Amino acid sequence: MPGFAACVGALPTVEEAVELARALQERNILVFMASHTRGVSMAEQLAEAGIEMNWDTFLVPYGKDTSAAVHALNFAARAAMTFGGIKPGDFEAARKILLYNKERVHAFVLALGADFEPGEKDGQLLTDEKYAAAAGAINFGFPVIADVPIPQILPRGICTYKHVVSGIPRDQLVPKACEVRGLKIKVSKIPIPVPYGAGFEGERVRKENLFVEFGGKFSQAFELLLAKPMSEVEDGRIELIGPDIDQAQEGGAMPLGVIVEVAGRHLKPDFEPVLERRIHHFISCINGVMHIGQRDIPWIRISKEAFQKGFRLKHYGTVLVAKFKEDFGAIVDKVQVTLITDPEEVEKRLREAREVYRQRDARVMGMTDEDVDLFYSCTLCQSYAPNHVCVVTPERLGLCGAYTWLDCAASHEMDPHGPNQPIKKGEVLDPILGQWKGVNEFVRQASRGNVERVSMYSILQDPQTSCGCFECIVAVLPEANGVMIVNREYVGETPIGMTFSTMAGQIGGGVQMPGFLGIGKLYIPAKSSSPQRAGSNGWYGCPRNSWRKSGPGWPRGSRRWASRISWTRSLQRRMPVPSTSSLRIWNA
Ligand code: SF4
Repeated sequence: MPGFAACVGALPTVEEAVELARALQERNILVFMASHTRGVSMAEQLAEAGIEMNWDTFLVPYGKDTSAAVHALNFAARAAMTFGGIKPGDFEAARKILLYNKERVHAFVLALGADFEPGEKDGQLLTDEKYAAAAGAINFGFPVIADVPIPQILPRGICTYKHVVSGIPRDQLVPKACEVRGLKIKVSKIPIPVPYGAGFEGERVRKENLFVEFGGKFSQAFELLLAKPMSEVEDGRIELIGPDIDQAQEGGAMPLGVIVEVAGRHLKPDFEPVLERRIHHFISCINGVMHIGQRDIPWIRISKEAFQKGFRLKHYGTVLVAKFKEDFGAIVDKVQVTLITDPEEVEKRLREAREVYRQRDARVMGMTDEDVDLFYSCTLCQSYAPNHVCVVTPERLGLCGAYTWLDCAASHEMDPHGPNQPIKKGEVLDPILGQWKGVNEFVRQASRGNVERVSMYSILQDPQTSCGCFECIVAVLPEANGVMIVNREYVGETPIGMTFSTMAGQIGGGVQMPGFLGIGKLYIPAKSSSPQRAGSNGWYGCPRNSWRKSGPGWPRGSRRWASRISWTRSLQRRMPVPSTSSLRIWNA
């Protein structure tokens, strides 16, 4: 995030308010909104347009009073204390906080609209309260840019360049603000008909705004990235096999296969899973497209607004070609994308994709946590679960199922400053719970002090956090002194009376939730996942039909494990108070 904008007031129209918000989001600028202009606030205008406002979408409404703008300055002061290590308490600290903001926090104020007509109050256009708030911001070194002609203060002084610049045309407000604050932002201009930027990454497409969806529980979908020889990749080629979304029924679902083929002189086959996982990030940044999951469990939604603006599946490919080359230019020279919506072709290619996933997973099978001194972190999901850290070990892959220990090692080699950092295990604190001094220290620092300790082998004591893209959820069944596992594809109710999606909503977001754990499927047969290790009697339940349907999606060990359980009758009939013995048998 390069900086933040405090928007004070409102735009003349809802459309202009949306345009301003999009222009700021495209530049990944965090937007705080406060105050109003003649009774209308910018947040109200965005709400009227159905724009989602929260920390994930970089649009944060603070309140309709002008005094609510103080929260933006509070944010700035805390940034100085947190990242600048300034201890508050005296005038010297206050001075340091202001200087830190002037030099390091690239923020500005957008004063929007006039509160008075030109001849109404001796030529004054804004309220005294707004002038006072602007003066407070200027003290932090944050310049004020206005669309109405208020008095300008152009010489430099407290602010690095100018203090107040006014009368700026509304479509020039954001570039002007960046110029005055000295913000140099590289905007990815990808030729698609909707805005693109990290500010859209956490955006949800809700049912009422849905044009078409792929995957999830509604259709088959998969994503696969393959490294190919240079001669087999035609750079920039985007092919669609099957109908485009024009032919979809509004609110309906289509199958989708996404195959990205990349070539590069310095590309290694080991990098495939690492690059494949970036598809989630690249697609999530498209305004109006929601992306969750990976491999053969993605769930993608395209909004009505994006469709109406002309977004089609070829643009999906355009984004992937552009972003793989932009972000991984050092190893990726050529990219081609094949998008498949033809149901038979998706079915066929999905089988091939699952074989690739199986071969990737097989590489790490047989390794144990004791074999290595280093684990790896993965913080890729911190974009929407800011405190979440996956600790990836040989036995325990990332909970999305896409990153094994070997994948993380390859990722670190590819990008030494990226999301996969080596973690020295260090001194063993508890071999049963799976706690190491080095792991705890790393997680404490990477979660910004929110997670103190993490157990690699316990679901009850200091379990790992879960971000939200886990393949399965493990939950303790106290009545059975055991646990159950439910996978993402299973849509029915589980023995604890909740569906997968209800549980996912409660345990995701990067918090530790004793009794619940998000995991990748490949963790199920791992030695360290044994419930006896944690003192349980080892009785498990998992949805039988789902397990059968998933077929190759479940790793081999889990088949052996499942076959040890006698599946006989429906537990659901016995709910809501299942007996201990019935909990062994969850034949959904
Ligand atoms: Fe990384 Fe974990 Fe997110 Fe997978 S779930 S991308 S391993 S942080």
